[in-house]
Amino acid sequence: MSTFKDLGLNNDLLQAITDLGFEKPSEVQAKAIPILLESETDLVALAQTGTGKTAAFGFPLLEKIDVASRTTQGLILSPTRELCLQIANEMKLYGKYCKGLNVVAVYGGSSIQEQAREIKRGAQVIVATPGRMKDMIKRRLVDISKIQYSVLDEADEMLNMGFKEDITEILSHTPEDKNTWLFSATMPKEVARIAKKFMANPQEITVGNKNESTSNVTHEYYMVNARDRYQALKRLCDANPDIFSVIFCRTKRDTQKVAENLIEDGYSAGAIHGDLSQNQRDMVMKSFRNQQIQMLVATDVAARGIDVDDVTHVINYQLPDEPEVYTHRSGRTGRAGKTGISMVIVSRSEVRKIRGIERIINQKFIKKEIPDGANICQVQLMSLANKIHNTEVNDEIDAHLTSINTLFEDTDKDELIKKFFSVEFTRFYNYYNKSKNLNVSESSRDRDGGRDRDSGRDFKGGKNDSTRYFINVGAKDGFDWMKLKDFLKEQMDLGRDDVFKVETKDSFSFFNTENELKEKVLQHFTDFKHEGRFVNVEVSENRGGGGRRNDRRSGGKRRDDNRGGRRGDDRRNASGGRSDRRRGGDGDSRPRRSENSEFGSSRPRRSRR
Ligand code: AMP
Repeated sequence: MSTFKDLGLNNDLLQAITDLGFEKPSEVQAKAIPILLESETDLVALAQTGTGKTAAFGFPLLEKIDVASRTTQGLILSPTRELCLQIANEMKLYGKYCKGLNVVAVYGGSSIQEQAREIKRGAQVIVATPGRMKDMIKRRLVDISKIQYSVLDEADEMLNMGFKEDITEILSHTPEDKNTWLFSATMPKEVARIAKKFMANPQEITVGNKNESTSNVTHEYYMVNARDRYQALKRLCDANPDIFSVIFCRTKRDTQKVAENLIEDGYSAGAIHGDLSQNQRDMVMKSFRNQQIQMLVATDVAARGIDVDDVTHVINYQLPDEPEVYTHRSGRTGRAGKTGISMVIVSRSEVRKIRGIERIINQKFIKKEIPDGANICQVQLMSLANKIHNTEVNDEIDAHLTSINTLFEDTDKDELIKKFFSVEFTRFYNYYNKSKNLNVSESSRDRDGGRDRDSGRDFKGGKNDSTRYFINVGAKDGFDWMKLKDFLKEQMDLGRDDVFKVETKDSFSFFNTENELKEKVLQHFTDFKHEGRFVNVEVSENRGGGGRRNDRRSGGKRRDDNRGGRRGDDRRNASGGRSDRRRGGDGDSRPRRSENSEFGSSRPRRSRR
């Protein structure tokens, strides 16, 4: 079947589809719509976000409900407020010619009474987040006892977010004989269990392979020392001047910090995470949707509702703890039939995770090199040249042409072009001239010996906020730095990057955490026994690590390893990352636009597309 008409949709929907500019059904639509229109059945559909699944359940739902009745007939549950609003808006667009249709979105953070009033006016379809829906049922503000269709959208996400009990509770208030349509990007056991519990002989459709990410996404990884992660991020952005990206970090704190640093360095960036108010999040999302923000730095939880079609790149600044989460991240690009790139910045110790993800997404990663300075200068120059070439002439300039011509009377064309481009080029050239190679090879891992070189804090301000500890176990106890790091992480239930700068010696070791974890660490190791012996952790006098160790325990002996190469880093962090500003090559700040640049002193707003 090749057209929406062939799928059997009515004229009202076909007209709305024409208005929306959808030319032909996507795969999930072509598979799901005929099944749902032709039979009263339960359905399990495995499909990523961005494949058109809202319409896959939305069109049949609108076709089947009775708009002349004010009874609630369809309930769509979705994991986040953003997604809930998005679905409700899409449904309204699909149903714009269905006279009398009333779709109401029900979600937390907004007036429950107002939502209840809207429902009372007669909502045939409710789109809800589980928490708010449960609340409304408890307060008897909604009646879902007569619904005929329930949709569980992004079921895997809802379960990930701990909504299993809420969903069970909500569905217990719905009729037994309704139809349930479950949509999920992945099929972990929990989702399969839900499907079994709430559905009777569901038909199954799969778009792509189970758990597979969309095939129009290319997966790339870049291997750097963790302390160069932020520089690597900037280079990737500079090498892609038209980037429109979501950058994923593991923690709220890192998300905020990366965004702040990017903004300070002249990029058009914003952060979205759970510590921001709903209002702040809405504002950031609005700017991102309007492409006023080129880079959205996000935590996994906050990014769950992000449904923006034109994202060109997803950048995994840090890998997620759970490899399955990667599928959701990369699904933010390559949407609506477009291609996208998912980039991962990894340190050597994380590269094995890439292999694990490859197995899950059933696709190979391409190992790429972080571009060098010359490369970036060339890309930026050509991008500017193309922009100028494609710029429409503004005739208002005519009035000033005589003065400009007089000024350049003695300048020939080549020189004029050179001068003109130098305004921008010099900025990047000065910045990247003498920049170092950030790439590291997989095989050089052993060079680090007993030291967790890759786990330095990787953006400015980091080290100042960390505490260094002494622990009385070392190589004699069977620990190398990786084993010790894993041990500490597991013991205290910490994330991979929470423990860093691990150095193992024969009978003792050192490690760092952020200051805020100090109490937790010290408390955990009070009266702590491992394999029958007391393990003692104390705060070390060598606070930052990586400098000279004032180590009385080793008889006051100083480290004799070569620290020369790291001094610059240590100084930079100690001064809050500002001392390198004037240095060439990946100092902390981005090459700023010169004040007299015709393109302004800040990064230009996006005008693409
Ligand atoms: P979804 O997976 O439902 O979030 O849809 C992703 C995006 O694709 C949304 O912006 C839809 O409006 C758009 N879309 C859905 N179906 C089609 C289609 N058949 N042709 C073009 N775009 C579509």
